[in-house]
Amino acid sequence: MNTDILDIRDLNFSYQSREILREISLSLKQGEFLGFLGPNGSGKSTFLKNLLGFLKPSGGKILYAGTNTVPGGKERARLFSFVPQNTGLRSSFAVKDVILMGRLPHLKDRWAGYSAEDREKVREVMKVLGLSSMADRNVMSLSGGELQKVIIGRCLVQEGDIILLDEATSGLDLNHSIEIMELMRKKTAEESKTVVAVLHDLNLASQYCDRIVLLKEGRIRYQGSPLEILSSEVLEDIYGIQAMVGIDAYGRPFVLPRRAAGAAGVS
Ligand code: ADP
Ligand code: MG
Repeated sequence: MNTDILDIRDLNFSYQSREILREISLSLKQGEFLGFLGPNGSGKSTFLKNLLGFLKPSGGKILYAGTNTVPGGKERARLFSFVPQNTGLRSSFAVKDVILMGRLPHLKDRWAGYSAEDREKVREVMKVLGLSSMADRNVMSLSGGELQKVIIGRCLVQEGDIILLDEATSGLDLNHSIEIMELMRKKTAEESKTVVAVLHDLNLASQYCDRIVLLKEGRIRYQGSPLEILSSEVLEDIYGIQAMVGIDAYGRPFVLPRRAAGAAGVS
């Protein structure tokens, strides 16, 4: 798990004159499960969109590790698989067709249709996610959790080396959240994929991530293994909460959060 795959150097991003990301430097490693955490509005989604090329950095570089080359447009589309925070799906498509859209970066040219291989990959992913019986259902008729799994399926058929998950488990119950995290861990362990997961659940992050990056106001404030960085002091600094941090039987930290005394409340 030591080969770097992507080097992010001094990345800055602003919306108009408002600075959102400040001097983000980070190397992503092959086979690594990275948790990208921080309070609402700290710039997590903006960071992912800069990686994907949806937003253009105002400074800094995103390079293939060990080279000075920037991944180009099509190349970049194939490098990443992505689950967006807001899916924005408002159309009546069948489950299998929404997942098939994930194969778009692999089309030979603009006019080539999807191949039999593309459709086979969709079938495999539906099987893994337990979606096979819903293949022909209209996505508009699915529950929030079911739809979320379809979006995760669309991400998996993209087969990018780097999987970006923006709160991908937020709408899922505990059982399904763990299922997705386990699946992603398998992707890192067996296929050497790199996973960058934006999460809010510190305990899920602690259990599954090799490394956690904590963002505050657009800057990386802490990074390290869960054991290295999850402490009451750090959580108070990042989230303004008082949290008890313990160690479970497997040596992983767990967090019991409480509001800080005197914290501003919503009344
Ligand atoms: P996070 O994902 O960590 O919750 P975001 O990356 O979505 O945070 O947002 C970071 C900051 O950028 C927030 O203050 C947000 O209001 C602002 N922001 C997000 N999108 C836009 C936009 N299209 N125009 C202007 N500001 C934006
Ligand atoms: Mg976000």
